[in-house]
Amino acid sequence: MTALIVTLYLAFFLAQLAVETGLAVANLRHVARAGDAVPALLLGHVDNETARRSHAYTLARGRYGLVHGFYAAALILLLLFSGALPAIDAALARHGLSGAHRFVGFLVALSAVPSLANLPFSLYGTFVLEHRFGFNRTTARLWLKDSVKGIALSAVIGVPLLYAAYGLFALTGHAWWLWLFALLTAVQVFMVWLYPLVIAPLFNKFAPLPDGELRARLEAMARAAGFRARGLLVMDASRRSGHSNAYFTGFFRPRIILFDTLVQQMSVDETAAVLAHEIGHYQARHVHKRLVVGLAVQLASLWLLSLLMRWPPLFAAFGFAAPSFHAALALVSLCGGAFTFFFAPLESYLSRRHEYEADRYSVAIAGAPVALRSALVKLNGQNLSNLHPHPWYSAWHYSHPTLVERLAAIERAGAATRP
Ligand SMILES: [Zn+2]
Repeated sequence: MTALIVTLYLAFFLAQLAVETGLAVANLRHVARAGDAVPALLLGHVDNETARRSHAYTLARGRYGLVHGFYAAALILLLLFSGALPAIDAALARHGLSGAHRFVGFLVALSAVPSLANLPFSLYGTFVLEHRFGFNRTTARLWLKDSVKGIALSAVIGVPLLYAAYGLFALTGHAWWLWLFALLTAVQVFMVWLYPLVIAPLFNKFAPLPDGELRARLEAMARAAGFRARGLLVMDASRRSGHSNAYFTGFFRPRIILFDTLVQQMSVDETAAVLAHEIGHYQARHVHKRLVVGLAVQLASLWLLSLLMRWPPLFAAFGFAAPSFHAALALVSLCGGAFTFFFAPLESYLSRRHEYEADRYSVAIAGAPVALRSALVKLNGQNLSNLHPHPWYSAWHYSHPTLVERLAAIERAGAATRP
């Protein structure tokens, strides 16, 4: 039985590696073949210099991603088949840890390993790759401060949560997974409240958008759309990176966050079109829908975990002497990806549908398809997004439609709203 489990897992694991590598290589070859020319459909929108830099950036990031993908895959195999996991577990037991302490100790150790192992890639990505293309603005000092804050936050929030999870598992009998689901749901709702008030301000400064033409325009548009926001804030994203974006946080009266990079680089009309797009996501309840789907997936995963817990061959297959809650969580988090990655294209497809919907909404309420198009062209250019994605690659991975697809859809939406 254990040989069968290992074989089945390896088959899924290799399928995932083959599909992801195949798509990445196809995309890189597609980009290399297309060269650094502006695609025909974007002539007049994108300049030659941006096309040249996007080409170089896409190739550099793609190659980095390929190497990182192989490294991460090797790390998973090493953790699963070197006997490291049962050895860590046994070492904790030898040091007298049992019950909740052993559970927490094991999971903390397990989460530290990939973080440390990925450190060279993380440093290279920020200080070499992003730096070479002029995106990185993080200093070594700021990076270190961020890391210390991140670790402290995980300890303050994560460790008590792990103890609570173990307590529910140990005390609530067969229905432990339902109790755990209730706890995780409550924590997620709490985090939606806590994040903008406490966590995000630890890393960035948020200031109200100053009075002026832009603020007046955005407020008038939000009012006209019947959108009640709790605040319109500018975040000092440029402290770390030149990438730009906008988002909102909260369920009922959200805060709208504009990156300072966005405010600096866009005209009033363009910023209004971007904000109208974000309001579109909110009005169409995309965040709420995603939350409901996320909770359903979480419930199903916990139920599955409760079944796996009662299946000793699974633990034996990976070298554990007996089933335990911490070993089950470790195995599911390390092996789960191979069984769920087939859902990625579906998830991407649904996300792209939401993006189209939000774009149509933006055109309808801001009444400025031209501004939305030029805003997207600017965002694409500033982020040096790939101008020639392989169609299979974008269908599988892209949460947003490609620039060409979006501009065409906005054109259609603009034509439909014209009297
Ligand atoms: Zn969007």
